[in-house]
Amino acid sequence: MVANTSQPVHRIVIVGGGAGGLPLATALGGKLGDRSHDRAEITLVDPFETHLWKPLLHEVAAGRMDSDAHGVDYLALGYWHHFRFRQGVIEAIDRAQRTLSLDW
Ligand SMILES: Cc1cc2nc3c(=O)[nH]c(=O)nc-3n(C[C@H](O)[C@H](O)[C@H](O)COP(=O)(O)OP(=O)(O)OC[C@H]3O[C@@H](n4cnc5c(N)ncnc54)[C@H](O)[C@@H]3O)c2cc1C
Repeated sequence: MVANTSQPVHRIVIVGGGAGGLPLATALGGKLGDRSHDRAEITLVDPFETHLWKPLLHEVAAGRMDSDAHGVDYLALGYWHHFRFRQGVIEAIDRAQRTLSLDW
């Protein structure tokens, strides 16, 4: 008989895939979420499908850049950097129950 030595996987949810959340998700995903490590399940939540670096917004506003073509796709990034992506708006955090409520 083989003993089950697997540790419970930590679940980390990052709210917001902006300038702070996105690099955090890729860093943690690469370090902990890779299947060879499998030490944590990293989930990034954002209302949008893609991230656009805000300093580029004036280029979009001026019509010099297509935000659809230059946005970073969260799902694709999650695939390559070993984190999950859930599209939605966090409405509430229940610290006691350790749950998040999403509004779609
Ligand atoms: C026009 C403009 C130009 C700028 N130029 C520069 C610059 O040149 N250099 C510089 O260093 N900084 C610049 N900044 C500032 C820089 O963009 C911010 O400091 C940085 O984006 C802050 O990072 P953040 O992760 O806190 O927030 P953000 O990057 O704004 O990310 C927040 C994320 O959270 C998501 N979110 C919001 N509410 C919810 C919710 N309820 N549930 C789930 N997700 C949610 C949003 O969709 C977003 O993706 C600029 C900002 C603007 C607006």
